[in-house]
Amino acid sequence: MEIHCPSCKKVNVDAAACTRCGCELQALQAIAQAAMCNIALGKNTLLAGNFQDALEHAGRSWHLKHSPEAAKLAFLANVCAMNYHEALLWYSRAIKD
Ligand SMILES: [Zn+2]
Repeated sequence: MEIHCPSCKKVNVDAAACTRCGCELQALQAIAQAAMCNIALGKNTLLAGNFQDALEHAGRSWHLKHSPEAAKLAFLANVCAMNYHEALLWYSRAIKD
């Protein structure tokens, strides 16, 4: 998993500490992992037709890490639940970056 060092901005892959400056990265890896798990759970619940649970997983992931994947999941869950106003808000977040 790629983690951008908060101190020097170096991209580190599966490193417990930044290979440039030595900054501790394990807490950031745990947060990113939890965000990814929530996206995976959200995708499964969305495919099972449980749009509200999918939206909750997307929201948890978004709170952990503002990722396009979390925004896209929230967008899809809102479209499926016919919450089009909320879907537009998530769409604008999904297309950033
Ligand atoms: Zn660093």
